[in-house]
Amino acid sequence: MQELYAPAKLESKAKRDVKLVIGCWFLVGDLKPRSSHPRLPFLRSFLSRICDCGTRTLRDIGGKLMGPRGDFRVGMGYDIHRLAAERRLVLGGVEIPHPKGLLGHSDADVVLHAVTDAVLGAAGLPDIGECFPDTDPSFKDADSRNLLRSAIDRIETLGFQVGNVDVTVHAEAPKLSPYKKRMAESIAELVKANADAVSVKGKTNEGLGAIGRSEGIACSAVVTLVRHRRSQNG
Ligand SMILES: [Zn+2]
Repeated sequence: MQELYAPAKLESKAKRDVKLVIGCWFLVGDLKPRSSHPRLPFLRSFLSRICDCGTRTLRDIGGKLMGPRGDFRVGMGYDIHRLAAERRLVLGGVEIPHPKGLLGHSDADVVLHAVTDAVLGAAGLPDIGECFPDTDPSFKDADSRNLLRSAIDRIETLGFQVGNVDVTVHAEAPKLSPYKKRMAESIAELVKANADAVSVKGKTNEGLGAIGRSEGIACSAVVTLVRHRRSQNG
């Protein structure tokens, strides 16, 4: 907390009280256009005077005090791939030993595809098939981690960051328990979130349908995004 106030040259006795005021200023300033809110000019000059710093510094401090906030989005993704012999099984960026792997144009990482679609959907961007078409030879056997990284780059350009990721993998086999933690850590690193903000769950299909007959593996994912600043495109 000490370094948070350093740019504002605040004496320690003022820090406690000014924290609340800066937070309120940040809130008000973020919700209303500056010119249209009658209290802003007064608040701005008052805080600049007592903190001995400019309004940009105040906004930076206020933003850190309030944490990521503002535009909040939810996205959902779903994907399914067929299991086939002589393919690697890659789930959530983690290679899992199994007699069969998933069939697809890329590495067929069904988990990362669902997460990528949820990320893109939450930001109102085109889906994974449009962004990374399987008719494009450059995506043949592509590492799906790069597709997700690219989706994260796109949402960051729009001012978003990932809040949390919740994943359910639908697979009759293999058992995912030994790999869930590594998968969550891998996804967390890719979406630039804390590991505790990513959940990976495994569900069988109780022997029902194509998943139950181990013909394929499906995944559903929910992602939240928080817009912490304005788009770079204005
Ligand atoms: Zn896919």
